[in-house]
Amino acid sequence: MFCRAILPFLLLAQLPAQDRPSSCSNCPTWNVAQPGFRLFGNTYYVGTHGLSSILITSPQGHILIDAALPESVPRIVDNIRSLGFRVEDIKLILNSHVHFDHGGGLAELQRLSGARMAASPWSADAMMKGVVPRDDPQFGAIIPSPKIETKVRTFKDGAVLEVGSLAVTAHYTPGHTPGGTSWTWRACEKDRCLNMVYADSLSAVSEDGFLFSRRSQYPHAEDFEGSFAFLARVPCDLLITPHPEASGLWDHLEQRKTNREALVNSNACRIFTASLREKLKERLATERKQ
Ligand SMILES: [Zn+2]
Repeated sequence: MFCRAILPFLLLAQLPAQDRPSSCSNCPTWNVAQPGFRLFGNTYYVGTHGLSSILITSPQGHILIDAALPESVPRIVDNIRSLGFRVEDIKLILNSHVHFDHGGGLAELQRLSGARMAASPWSADAMMKGVVPRDDPQFGAIIPSPKIETKVRTFKDGAVLEVGSLAVTAHYTPGHTPGGTSWTWRACEKDRCLNMVYADSLSAVSEDGFLFSRRSQYPHAEDFEGSFAFLARVPCDLLITPHPEASGLWDHLEQRKTNREALVNSNACRIFTASLREKLKERLATERKQ
């Protein structure tokens, strides 16, 4: 989501991941190791305990969504290998939003895999420049993700991206950043298929002085509303979020020991949207007092 502790990151990014100090004060907690596991069907969680990274697999190659911090890469690689997959078989790398806690490991994972990359136009531009754009609500408060050295292709809202038999759909969900993107796909076990939703962060967090209630600002409160409306209506059986605890992943995983359906909830996206709307309302009320 965000971190205010800024380090001379551009220099640190040159070091191998294992030699780098933490990128922020929250980062050691976010980067705690988490064994990879199957979410459902061909879809696996390969991130750290604090930051999601999702692997969607097929015999023709895999799709990876999000790459946590720069220092998370060895953990993600270990998880992918422990689950019996090869990093070299990742053919496409995607992202929720380009903040360094979800995009920090993208550049290195792209180098390791040789995968192609795609992002919303705003995110692709930030990735290829290795900057936090000035119109990011957190501009000035956060460090950039390492620059992506390959071309990042762009897609339109609603585009379907394919790798072999895999197909994931991109949904622009601006708010937390102008380029935020949520992802949906179907995952199947035998005859049963679930609607998987990886919903981008939709928290209204900013550097001091940015007002989501100011109409000239983008993202504006109404942009959030468009993203909320998408999330409330999308078919959603299994919700995952870039910060896994935001959708209750660890509680549900614990419950799955005795209830194999614990991760499945076709109301999850609507319940989550209601909590996001409340949080935005609180933020706007705070802005009105300023
Ligand atoms: Zn963020």
